[in-house]
Amino acid sequence: MFCWLSRIFRGLSRPTGRTTQPFWGFLSRSLILTSQRSIPELSSFVARTNTCGELRSSHLGQEVTLCGWIQYRRQNIFLVLRDFHGLVQVVIPQDESAASVRRILCEAPVESVVQVSGTVISRPPGQENPKMPTGEIEIKVKTAKLLNSCKKLPFEIKDFVKKTETLRLQYRYLDLRGAQMQYNLRLRSQMVMKMREYLCNLHGFVDIETPTLFKRTPGGAKEFVVPSREPGKFYSLPQSPQQFKQLLMVGGLDRYFQIARCYRDEGSRPDRQPEFTQIDIEMSFVDQTGIQSLIEGLLQYSWPSDKDPVVVPFPSMTFAEALASYGTDKPDTRFGMKIVDISDMFRRTEIGYLQDVLSKPQGTIKAMCVPEGAKYLKRKDIESIRKFAADHFNQEVLPVFLKANRNWNSLLAKFITEEQGLGLIRLLEIQEEDVVLVTAGEHKKACSLLGKLRLECADLLEARGVVLRDPALFSFLWVVDFPLFFPKEEHPQELESAHHPFTAPHPSDIHLLYTEPQKVRSQHYDLVLNGSEVGGGSIRIHNAELQRYILAAVLKEDVKLLSHLLQALDYGAPPHGGIALGLDRLMCLVTGAPSIRDVIAFPKSFRGHDLMSNAPDSIPPEDLKPYHIQVSWPTDLAKESSLSHSCNPES
Ligand code: ASP
Repeated sequence: MFCWLSRIFRGLSRPTGRTTQPFWGFLSRSLILTSQRSIPELSSFVARTNTCGELRSSHLGQEVTLCGWIQYRRQNIFLVLRDFHGLVQVVIPQDESAASVRRILCEAPVESVVQVSGTVISRPPGQENPKMPTGEIEIKVKTAKLLNSCKKLPFEIKDFVKKTETLRLQYRYLDLRGAQMQYNLRLRSQMVMKMREYLCNLHGFVDIETPTLFKRTPGGAKEFVVPSREPGKFYSLPQSPQQFKQLLMVGGLDRYFQIARCYRDEGSRPDRQPEFTQIDIEMSFVDQTGIQSLIEGLLQYSWPSDKDPVVVPFPSMTFAEALASYGTDKPDTRFGMKIVDISDMFRRTEIGYLQDVLSKPQGTIKAMCVPEGAKYLKRKDIESIRKFAADHFNQEVLPVFLKANRNWNSLLAKFITEEQGLGLIRLLEIQEEDVVLVTAGEHKKACSLLGKLRLECADLLEARGVVLRDPALFSFLWVVDFPLFFPKEEHPQELESAHHPFTAPHPSDIHLLYTEPQKVRSQHYDLVLNGSEVGGGSIRIHNAELQRYILAAVLKEDVKLLSHLLQALDYGAPPHGGIALGLDRLMCLVTGAPSIRDVIAFPKSFRGHDLMSNAPDSIPPEDLKPYHIQVSWPTDLAKESSLSHSCNPES
């Protein structure tokens, strides 16, 4: 307990030379910037004089009043009290005159909340606890008050005690008492404050709230609908404040930002939530490099001081390069294992299958070298890799062991000439014990497959002890030059926006819009961190004519839905652009949390439920009447509906 709590508190600080209290140091440094005060007043306005975690030898002899939860008790002699700041040892008085204090402190169950007053004394020599930040002192109690007792808990408030996520979410208010959640939420608050400071105080941005009751936006993610009292009319919850922020530019607000809540009805994943938070930004008279520099500065300024500093400018890669070398638009650049095109080496091959692939448009042969793969990947791993390729991509993947003297099922290896072998060794820098995965097929498909296998192999190697991705490394990357449109998955002859329909085409590709729109590059940029997309934005279309053409002629959207925006663009809309950073995802990566739910105070479950309150919940038909709506129950659910109040949908 002492160790992990102090680790967290240590983690929140970086030696500043100004303080011996790590957590304190972290808080004070950020507050200096806003209020010019050196020490935050953690005990102002409340019933305590000090926090549990702040007490040190420098407080010896002071009379203090503390409020906190009983962490544990030892032999009815010591009690360890906890608040958000840390732990402190309280000595339970043993003399008869203090019987009532003793009774309170000995009888109150663990996690009861108490107030104690007493003197800070040093621990007897030899009884100091160096692992505990307050380990040199203890509190000699004079008075104690039980503020509220705690019933038997559903789980112990200790991070190392394993509990299911369902249980954690059901009792979120208890889960929040744990040190890791405290750290995550406090760090989030600190970073957001620094971001506000950077944007407002250093760069003149204006924090503006935009509505969350809005109307349907064409294209993009599925939106949540909210019934209105007008028959057949619904609001939509915005997937982002995109239209409003552009309208603010038309309104001359010039530099907007908002910590914006956004909604997408797409179900939860480890890195997604139906409601999530963006740092949403828009600027007038800006280009791509302007936005990129702003974001680099913002992250550098707000980056936690206990992590290695952010190095700027961030490297940049085109979408085409990202796809070709990493098989994805969000490459994890913390490690190599890049995809290499080896088509040229096989132009005169006698292998019929490869000849066939290479004769097709976009037909390629790709390879990826897995370092020490021959040593660490087992036969069953290679088999499951091949099965994955067959099941998900309808592709064949062949392992080639060029140097190591092994050959599992590699038909290809038999046919590789010596010259081709040497060429591969050179091109892929193959070492002894490496394995090369080879696939042949259409460029995008072959790259995407190897991109997935790259991450899969990295996981496998790491599970066997190879260090590929340094957990302390934060590898930011800009991905640029996206196509403006992608073919729709189900109807590839139709196009959809790669980012959103307001993104401006690359100036040098505008002419292609009218002839070959699928070839137009856009002014869209994504920010990637360690293989996750943490931000995305674009320079916008500020010409109503062009916007109308893209919506109607290319995307075949109902232009009427956006008539307000098109109209606004006609009234002297300035050139503008912006970006949104996904705050939850960013915090998840910064804290190393396994899921974004670990950086959100009250997240939805994997299936989009609030397990604490059981939202979404049914409402009686009479309450639906004012909205002129009625539930039409799917037959299999009709019976269950009456039970839905009592059962936990997630368990
Ligand atoms: N609104 C966009 C999004 O949510 C970001 C942007 O283009 O600024 O992805």
